[in-house]
Amino acid sequence: MDFNYSPQDEAFRAEVRGWLEKNRQYAPSGRSPLDDGGNEDWQARVRWHKRLNEGGWVAVHWPKEYGGRGATVMERQIFREELARLDLIEPFLGMGISLLGPTLMHWGTDAQKNRHLPAILRADEVWCQGYSEPGSGSDLASLKTRAEDHGDYFLVNGQKVWTSMAQFADWIFLLVRTDPEAPKHKGISYLLVDMHSPGITVRPLVQMTGGRGFNEVFFEDVRVPKANIVGEKNNGWQVAITTLMFERSGNYGESVTQQVRELAELARRIPRNGATAWDDSGVRQRIARFASEAVALKYTAYRQLTRQLKGIPPGPEGSLMKLCGTELGLAVALYAMELLGPYSQMDFEAPFAVDSGKWSLRMLAARGPTIYAGTNQIQHNIIGERVLGLPKG
Ligand SMILES: Cc1cc2nc3c(=O)[nH]c(=O)nc-3n(C[C@H](O)[C@H](O)[C@H](O)COP(=O)(O)OP(=O)(O)OC[C@H]3O[C@@H](n4cnc5c(N)ncnc54)[C@H](O)[C@@H]3O)c2cc1C
Repeated sequence: MDFNYSPQDEAFRAEVRGWLEKNRQYAPSGRSPLDDGGNEDWQARVRWHKRLNEGGWVAVHWPKEYGGRGATVMERQIFREELARLDLIEPFLGMGISLLGPTLMHWGTDAQKNRHLPAILRADEVWCQGYSEPGSGSDLASLKTRAEDHGDYFLVNGQKVWTSMAQFADWIFLLVRTDPEAPKHKGISYLLVDMHSPGITVRPLVQMTGGRGFNEVFFEDVRVPKANIVGEKNNGWQVAITTLMFERSGNYGESVTQQVRELAELARRIPRNGATAWDDSGVRQRIARFASEAVALKYTAYRQLTRQLKGIPPGPEGSLMKLCGTELGLAVALYAMELLGPYSQMDFEAPFAVDSGKWSLRMLAARGPTIYAGTNQIQHNIIGERVLGLPKG
C-alpha cells in the first residue's frame, strides 16, 4: 500500500475536518445505543444523523445516485480517521445506512430503492435486523419464523430475538421460511416488514449493562405485501449473505487504538504507592503490549484496504480483524478494571466513580462484539478452515 495521500485525498480530509470541527458540538457522547435504550440518548443520535445528512456526510460511501457522496475506499477511511481523531462516532441509527441500504442497492427493485433509500438518509425510517431466533444464531439457516403465501401477501408467524433497536425501528428486514420442505438454505426469503403492522409485539430485554437496546420481536398473523420481498421467493439466503458481508466488513481498528490511548491516560491518573500506576514498569509494559497489538491491527486493516483498492474481494483479514479487534477491546476493558481496583465496582454515573464509571460499563459491553456478526468461535473456525487449511471440526 502507498501510505502517501493524493492531493484529492488531502482536499477531502480538509473538507471533512473543517465540517466536523464546526459541527462536533452537535455529536452525542460515544455511548452505544446497544448499551442504553434510553430515549434521550436516542434523540441525540437522531439529531446527529440529521445534522450529518444536511452536510452530506451521513452515508459518504453510498453512490451519488442514491444520495451518498460516492466516496472512494480511501476517502471513507479518511472520514473514519477524522471522526476518530475528534473522538466522534460514525453515524449509527439502526441498520439502514450500514446494512439495508447497500443490500437494497444490489437486490432491491426500483420501487424499493426509491421508497426506502431517501427515507433512511433523512432518518425518517429506522431499520432493525430480524435474523436471530431462539435456537438459530450461529446456525442461522435453521430459522423457523414462517411466511405463508396468500396470493398478494405473506402471512408471517414466529419470533426473533436480540433485535437491536427494535423499540425505535419503523421497519425490519426479516428472514423467514417460505418453503419448509426445501433444504434449509433453499427455503428462506428476505422480507421488508413495517414494524407498525398489526400483529407485531416488541419486548425489551435488559442487558447486564442495564441498557435496553435488545428486544424480542413476536409476529402473529402479520400481513406483508408481496411487493416487499427482496430478491426471489426462497432465494433469501443469497440476499442475507450480502447483508452479512456488509456487517462483517465493519471497522474494528480505530476504536481500539483510541481505547488504548484512554487506558494510558487513566494509568497516569491512578495513584499508586506515592506515584501513579504509570510509574510502574509492569503497567507500562502491559499497555505497550496493547498498543503494539492495536498497531498490528491497524496495518492488517491497511492490508484489507489494499485488497479493496485493487478491487479484490475481501480476504481472511476481515475474520482476523473481527477476532483480534474484539478480543483486544475486551482485554483492554478488563485491564482497566485491574487498574481501578475497588473503584471498578462502581456503577455507571455513580458518585465518586472514576470517569463517571465508563470503564465498568465498557467492560460489561465489551463481550457483545465478541458475539455479534459471527461469534469469535465461528471466526476461529473460518480462520482454521479457510486460512490454515485445517480439516472441518
Ligand atoms: C450486541 C449484540 C447485538 C445483536 N444484534 C442483533 C440484531 O440486531 N439482530 C439479530 O438478528 N441478531 C443480533 N444479535 C444476535 C447475534 O447475531 C447472535 O447472538 C449470534 O449470531 C450468536 O448466536 P446465538 O446467540 O444463538 O449463540 P449460539 O449460536 O447458540 O452459540 C452459542 C455458543 O456456541 C458456540 N458455537 C456455535 N456454533 C459453533 C460452531 N459451529 N463451532 C464452534 N462454536 C460454536 C458460539 O460461538 C457460542 O459461544 C446480536 C448479538 C449481540 C451480542
